[in-house]
Amino acid sequence: MPLWADIGRSIAEATGAQFHIESRTSVGGGCINAAFRVTGGRRAYFVKTSAPHAADMFAAEAAGLGEIARSQTVRVPQPVCHGSTSEAGWLALEFIDFGSARRDSSRALGQSLAAMHRVTAPRFGWQRDNAIGATPQPNTPCADWAEFWREHRLGFQLALAARNGAPRSLLAKGERLLRDFPALLAGCAVEPALLHGDLWGGNAGVDSAGLPVIYDPAVYYGHREADLAMTELFGGFNADFYAAYREAFPLDPGYPVRKQLYNLYHVLNHYNLFGGGYARQAEAMVDRLLAEI
Ligand code: ADP
Repeated sequence: MPLWADIGRSIAEATGAQFHIESRTSVGGGCINAAFRVTGGRRAYFVKTSAPHAADMFAAEAAGLGEIARSQTVRVPQPVCHGSTSEAGWLALEFIDFGSARRDSSRALGQSLAAMHRVTAPRFGWQRDNAIGATPQPNTPCADWAEFWREHRLGFQLALAARNGAPRSLLAKGERLLRDFPALLAGCAVEPALLHGDLWGGNAGVDSAGLPVIYDPAVYYGHREADLAMTELFGGFNADFYAAYREAFPLDPGYPVRKQLYNLYHVLNHYNLFGGGYARQAEAMVDRLLAEI
């Protein structure tokens, strides 16, 4: 069946109400996939499409959105259905009418994120693997945070970086960091908290009622500082957001150092995706971290 007819039929099946796609408009802004607003009758959906092999990544994204939605702490687009044809993999979500921030939108996001981070699981990781950007993200459950971060986050990206020809100096210092970084966690009680996992400014917005919305997650249960650190990596979150978060859920001492440990994962991922100057940036971060141990 042609792609869009298949998507329309799946939306009808998932929602239990007849649906035929009457219009399809491209929506800009996505980093990786093509994105569309599709409408039929008075209903609208947001549909992302990519290569057929992306179907599993989209299934993981839908599961992640479902996990956050069930926490009832912050608005996410409700997943509707996902699938693939020989042409493409696709994901259909509730269409969100984005609006402009109100005076208290940033505070609301800080409070909602803190509430989401109060939701915990018995172990770190998640019930399934997903992706961070276009890179696989393993979420094998693990009782120990340092082990999880070593094996499934920093170690995984460093191994990829080695295959991608990263400088030997970065890899050698990275090995030392893998061995020694648990010292940075001393005295810090880490709970497996529900994380968005890819919380940069491009993955958060405000709906037409001024309420915060987060989307495009890479969900797992981990140290909440990892989410917060990423909000600082590329900017886009203001002082009200951080003040509200800290009021709702104060941070442990040592966060300013550990945030480098957590953002190193994303900088290594950027090296693995885009190459270039990210290796230098990663190595400078490793140097700073080693100097703190
Ligand atoms: P990608 O996976 O390609 O990075 P995103 O999920 O970030 O794509 O979505 C791309 C853009 O589409 C976002 O920046 C946002 O502006 C818009 N968008 C995302 N989700 C929705 C939605 N459910 N409804 C309406 N617009 C959305």
